[in-house]
Amino acid sequence: MKTTRIPLIAGNWKMNLDHLQAVAFVQKLHWTLKDAKHEEGSVEVAVFPPFTDIRSVQTLIDADKIPFALGAQDLSAHDSGAYTGEVSGAFLSKLDVGYVIIGHSERREYHAETDEVVASKVSAALKHGIVPVICVGETAEDLEKHGASAVPAGQLEAALDGVSADADIVVAYEPVWAIGSGQAATPQQAQDVCAVLREVVAKALGADAAARTRILYGGSVKAANIAGFMREPDVDGALVGGASLVVDDFAAIIRFQ
Ligand code: PGA
Repeated sequence: MKTTRIPLIAGNWKMNLDHLQAVAFVQKLHWTLKDAKHEEGSVEVAVFPPFTDIRSVQTLIDADKIPFALGAQDLSAHDSGAYTGEVSGAFLSKLDVGYVIIGHSERREYHAETDEVVASKVSAALKHGIVPVICVGETAEDLEKHGASAVPAGQLEAALDGVSADADIVVAYEPVWAIGSGQAATPQQAQDVCAVLREVVAKALGADAAARTRILYGGSVKAANIAGFMREPDVDGALVGGASLVVDDFAAIIRFQ
């Protein structure tokens, strides 16, 4: 089953790298990865720069035919109108943005994004032909109280409300306690929750969707631990924060085998 899913290595830059740094970074990453297997299409690489970098990165990727997908870190649930500071999926899709991170724990925590907000953003992304990377994960407190999978499974169920069976989505399991802590989940912990999340996709969208949907692990992924995650049958890639900001580290993650 796994062989039909192309692994996705996604770099979530968060609020790092301005547009000049972003252009230099993408050029250097591309150069570092020359001859790597992402050129043959066996691994998909995606970068998620801040909004202000997107146009510059898109222009570079397009002009130099760099085989990286481009993602945004958030979008508005609305298409246009009086929403100061928001960025619409309609605008992102005009810049060839193919993916958008939705429901990252930092948005849930610092911007009070509820499951309902996440669901409305998922539907906005799909409406504009952008693949939502739906982030779910439990805090350390949730883990202690409810075990690892209950909270992420509930978040995913809510996010998939109203999504159609043929929708193209990506799920990212990111335990909040593992993000930026240097304390990654074990491959077995990641596998156990990703398997539950695949069942949630199966229930909500059907068996075909569950078989084709990529489920990523995120939280302190680095070159030294990526191979262990990638060996797990239900882990189809990684959402990488800190280590996606260093060219050599991110390149080593992309060359995970
Ligand atoms: P990290 O972040 O790799 O720095 O832990 C992951 C994320 O927040 O997506």
